[in-house]
Formats: sequence, C-alpha cells, structure tokens
Amino acid sequence: MPGSTLPNVRGPDDGTWAILRRRIWMYPLEPPGRSGRLGRPGSCAVCRGPVRPGYARCYQCGQHDLLGPGLLADAVVPISYAVKGTAFAVSLWRYKSWRSPDPAARTALLTLLLTFLHDHGRCVWRHAGMPAPGRLAVVPTGCGRPGPHPLLAMAGPYLRLPRTGLAIRPGEQGRDPNPDRFIAERSGPGAVLLLDDSWVSGASAQSAAAALKRAGARHVAVVVLGRHVDPADRMSAPLAARLAPSGYDQDRCAVHPVPAQQGIA
Ligand SMILES: [Zn+2]
Ligand SMILES: [Zn+2]
Repeated sequence: MPGSTLPNVRGPDDGTWAILRRRIWMYPLEPPGRSGRLGRPGSCAVCRGPVRPGYARCYQCGQHDLLGPGLLADAVVPISYAVKGTAFAVSLWRYKSWRSPDPAARTALLTLLLTFLHDHGRCVWRHAGMPAPGRLAVVPTGCGRPGPHPLLAMAGPYLRLPRTGLAIRPGEQGRDPNPDRFIAERSGPGAVLLLDDSWVSGASAQSAAAALKRAGARHVAVVVLGRHVDPADRMSAPLAARLAPSGYDQDRCAVHPVPAQQGIA
C-alpha cells in the first residue's frame, strides 16, 4: 500500500486493514495549543498532556530541555490517551503482566500499533523531519525483567527493522531526565523509531532518545501507545473529563497534516 513506509506493515489492501481498524477503540489526541485563548483548552505541544494557561508545553516537557541541546526526540507521537482506570489503560499493564498475561490486551495493542504505523507512520516521520526509520528501539523498563522488552517481543516480529539495543546503565535508575540513564548501541547516523507503551512524565523516553543521539542517531521519533492521564490529578482532571473512547480514525492522528499544510510540505 503506497501509504506505508514500513515494509512489513505493507500488504495488499484486501480489506484486512479495514477490518482491523473497525476493531480499535482508543482516546484520540487533543490538538496542541496554549490554554486560555478563546476559551479553548490546551494541550502540550510535545506530549499532549495538560498545560498551564499560557504555556505551550507541560512542566515535564520543559524540564526535558535539561538533557541538553539537540538530544531530545524529533517527534513525540502518542497514539491514544491512557486515562487511568479505563480498560485501555488497564490493557497497557495487562499485556506485559508476568502473573496474568492478557492475550486479548496484547492483540488489541498490537493491532492498534501496527495499524497506526501503517496509516500514520508517514505523518510521524514528516513531523520529525526525517526519512522513514532504518532502525527500531524500545525504551527499557526499570523492572529488570529478563528477556526482551514485552513491546519488542510483541511487535518486533512485525516490524522487520534492525534493532538498536538500549539498556539501563547500572546505577542510573532515576526518574529524572538523564542522558546517562541508558546506554545505546552505536549504529550509524540513521533515523530511529523509538517505541514505548506508556508516557507518564516522558523522562524515560526522552532520556532514551538522548542516549540514541549520543550514540550517533541523527533522528529519533518516539511513538507511544498511551499518554497517561490521571483524573485524580488536579491538572489532568479537566482533560480527563473531556476524553471519551472513540473508534479509530484513519484520517486523524496527533500530527496528521491538515489540508492547508499539505500544499506547503
Ligand atoms: Zn508535555
Ligand atoms: Zn496521521
């Protein structure tokens, strides 16, 4: 299919993708923008989390500048919000659970991820100002489980991109943005697709992007399954109240080009 830039998520358009799209439920991303203008609610220009009135980015994304110039991800694209307590947010935990792995959660998330990359991968690369990625990496989890990351185990076989290894540097398991937290395999000056299942503060994903860039990557695009939103958090409550589950929209993503921009690009 001409819309795809990942060889393994391409295929004859025999209706299979349409069937998969109809099975997806998610929480579509709100457009970025400063809140308080024209009474319009805002969301962070980077992660689409809640922002204070008048600010373009949330507090955490502002803190990521501490990682250093040129080291942040070129694009951060959450596929859906993950509102705490909803089935979608629960599936983000259950798909990788040791004690009670949930095959239905895995299937739902894998379908969402592959369909998104098939339909909107090009939007992500364009937003990042990069060519289609030549390598794949996954943000390591801090829990020290053996074996490959559950997200890599789940999606890796369908994304036939060479992997760039990322590991937690011993003794660097903090929660703050830290360019030394991860060690990245050195793998040439290409473009990397960096996947994560959840974005809470974004410190892990941005620290991983920084490690990849220090190891030579020219571009890093982060794709996240769920942008965490906690309705009990005072800052997040208005956003959580606005969100409702919705069917998947092939013509809409967090960085989808609007028609006026398509002529310029
Ligand atoms: Zn943010
Ligand atoms: Zn799109």
